[in-house]
Amino acid sequence: MKLTYSNLGGSGNGNGSKLSLGKSIKMYLTIFIATTCIYMVLYQYHISQEPFAGSEVVKHQEKSSSYIASYLWSPISLLMANNSISTNSNPLPTTTTTTTTKTITSTTAPTTTTATIFQKLGLSSASIETVSLIATRPTLISSRLDLRSGFRSGLGSVGGSHHKTVTIKTSTTPTTTATTSTSPASGLLTTKLATTPAKPKAKQSAAAKSTTAHSDNAHKTRPTFVAVSQPPPLYIITPTYRRPEQMAELTRLGYTLKHVANLLWLVIEDANKTNPLVAHTLDRIGVPYEYMVAPMPEKYKQTKRAKPRGVSNRNKGLQYLRQHATEGVLYFADDDNTYDISIFEQMRYINKVAMWPVGLVTKTGVSSPIIQAGKLVGFYDGWIGGRKYPVDMAGFAVSVKFLKERPKAEMPFKPGYEEDGFLRSLAPLANSDIELLADECRDILTWHTQTKKNAPAQALNRTRYQNTNLEFIDKLLVRP
Ligand code: UDP
Ligand code: MN
Repeated sequence: MKLTYSNLGGSGNGNGSKLSLGKSIKMYLTIFIATTCIYMVLYQYHISQEPFAGSEVVKHQEKSSSYIASYLWSPISLLMANNSISTNSNPLPTTTTTTTTKTITSTTAPTTTTATIFQKLGLSSASIETVSLIATRPTLISSRLDLRSGFRSGLGSVGGSHHKTVTIKTSTTPTTTATTSTSPASGLLTTKLATTPAKPKAKQSAAAKSTTAHSDNAHKTRPTFVAVSQPPPLYIITPTYRRPEQMAELTRLGYTLKHVANLLWLVIEDANKTNPLVAHTLDRIGVPYEYMVAPMPEKYKQTKRAKPRGVSNRNKGLQYLRQHATEGVLYFADDDNTYDISIFEQMRYINKVAMWPVGLVTKTGVSSPIIQAGKLVGFYDGWIGGRKYPVDMAGFAVSVKFLKERPKAEMPFKPGYEEDGFLRSLAPLANSDIELLADECRDILTWHTQTKKNAPAQALNRTRYQNTNLEFIDKLLVRP
């Protein structure tokens, strides 16, 4: 011991030795802490360089302090999470998707030429009821191999099974794709899934079990302590229908939604079969989606009076959520309206129902809840019509849990009373339970816009434009 002291620079006397011992311990401690810090920084850097790290999938674990804490302890994790949000390359951690056998799976490379769209989709559109581009948990895991081979073979379609119909959406841009292609299987991804709190509902349990099994396995192959979480999922229900403006509307809305993280876009067309052109447009936009059809019942189509537009579409969306969603928030976003994306970040965290003003293109100017002393005291709208909730479709959102606690809630086929009927069907709902967004309804973040209706494009003169690009373009036009 004494030797050590003197070696460490101590003098002969006892006090001096103690002093120098103290100094030495301090020095070693400092070196140790410094080394540990450097190691942690280097490791975090290493992790941040890993492909896939930015495109984590995590099921939201309640809005709790742990969500925030998971970011706080690691600034680099925070950066990565933000990155993943801004690129929106996270597949949604939704629940199981078990669509019918008539569904197809397709991932179209962004470079797909129009000539190959129909081929790529492998359609016979007549047989299609649903098209998906979402990553659901069970299939994310079970198609890992497909995913890898798909990317190895240079992108192209990822094969889907006949019964399970989900396409893995891992890339929103060619750049992202390039990154993912070099990645080993989604170890990180499955790790995150493994950390998901298990809340298996009866119907989900089988799929959930297989997820867990795979996750455990993956956890062994590549453990990691990166803490990345996701905000509550958003389910955006968009009714759409065939008309010349359809692709423009969907493109505009789609790219708005692309700025929003952890979102599943339920695009539901008032038609008997899906349109490959719509599927192609949705693929290209790259927002996780589920494309379904829900035709308006014949009796309403025939009527000369006002039609209940988009009602069967929205009810189909509600039905989908009852089957597949467990948490998060639903919002009806008509394909022709205009949305400030900050409303999505506000509606994510609601507990029951939320409302906010909607800009109109009428002389009323706005449809809004009336707030006095912080309380909802009434509604301002150009037409009240005896409605309990005279609000616009673009002006409210509902928690999925709240919806599911009301098994009968749905939208009535009653023109003018769609919002009111749906909100009434959510009873019991006290006015004090309605959360007021958009700066307590002092701001306008959504607008009920209307696109001018246009006549369909005339038929192309095929003789004149034979063997020109117009032959391709013509296939992209929607005619009734
Ligand atoms: N819509 C539909 N089928 C129709 C007409 C409309 O599915 O026959 C959809 C449309 O795409 C939109 C929503 O229903 O998302 C509301 O329709 P529209 O915009 O025509 O109604 P408005 O906003 O004028 O009340
Ligand atoms: Mn509209």
